[in-house]
Amino acid sequence: MEIKSIGILTSGGDAPGMNAAIRAVTRTAIYAGMRVWGIYRGYQGLIEDQIVEFQTQNVSNIIQQGGTILKTARSMEFKTPEGRKKAYENLKRHDIDALVVIGGDGSITGAANLAREYDVPIVALPGTIDNDLAGTDMTIGYDTAMNTIMDCVDKIRDTATSHQRLFFIEVMGRDAGFLALNGAIATGCEDAIIPEVATQYDQLKALVDNGFRKSKSSAMVIVTESPEGGALKLAERVKKEYPEYDVRVSVLGHLQRGGSPTAADRILASRLGFAAIEALKEGQRNVMMGIHNDHVVNIPFAKAIKKDKPIDEELLTVLRVLSI
Ligand code: ADP
Repeated sequence: MEIKSIGILTSGGDAPGMNAAIRAVTRTAIYAGMRVWGIYRGYQGLIEDQIVEFQTQNVSNIIQQGGTILKTARSMEFKTPEGRKKAYENLKRHDIDALVVIGGDGSITGAANLAREYDVPIVALPGTIDNDLAGTDMTIGYDTAMNTIMDCVDKIRDTATSHQRLFFIEVMGRDAGFLALNGAIATGCEDAIIPEVATQYDQLKALVDNGFRKSKSSAMVIVTESPEGGALKLAERVKKEYPEYDVRVSVLGHLQRGGSPTAADRILASRLGFAAIEALKEGQRNVMMGIHNDHVVNIPFAKAIKKDKPIDEELLTVLRVLSI
């Protein structure tokens, strides 16, 4: 089937570079002679028919902007077959032949469910600061978030070293430690507490007992957020065991999502957005575009969301050796 018209949406958590991706998809599709429909507020907007035709100028001047001009939403209704039926009916109403979804793990799970029930080609782009999609080396937004974390931690270091403090800095990542681990390497932190490694509290204790006590006037540890309490809980535990230390916590929070995307994220988003339309033209469907060894690759939805993106053990070793 020739694709004459595509819809594009951003869904789930926003990430810097989503706008660059929207621009790339829109412009490539128009270049290929397709009509483009911007779907506002993710799957919820698709269900509620918040759909507007895009021209090239709708995406002018957005490559440098953080957030997403299409807005994003979390939609409980799309998780139900009735919700997805409404979504499909709105695609048909506008004669939209194919869909490009920009989002994270949840958004791609939703895309896979829609594709299973209805005959609509869908291509996804990995848009999440967490870098937790398998098959791609990087996700759109990850590099910008990492750079923001680096700036923040550098500033915290100035005050930490002035006061001989033990600092715990909490970063985002959901179930993935990429931001924490690489953020710690980039800022010369003493350690990173990440969900992929179960025995980290013992290692942290060893660090406090050995390295920090003897040779360092202060220490900084980056911790991945956690529903069980993250950095705050960890700090409490350490304070109890080491009352002699001045323990402080800084939760970076939503500022990690904002800001103008880095060059790396803009280029990644542009390449993947272009590739998404090329893939649709070639008849591909149910794939996420990704980057591997600097080549664009197609990853089947099922593989992308499989949660098997391991942390490179070597990174942990690098962190530990360099923080002696
Ligand atoms: P992210 O895409 O950043 O991981 P979420 O996990 O919040 O963000 O998912 C975004 C949206 O994707 C949800 O609000 C929901 O509309 C849709 N979604 C997530 N999981 C499913 C599912 N199992 N079936 C259908 N839609 C889903």
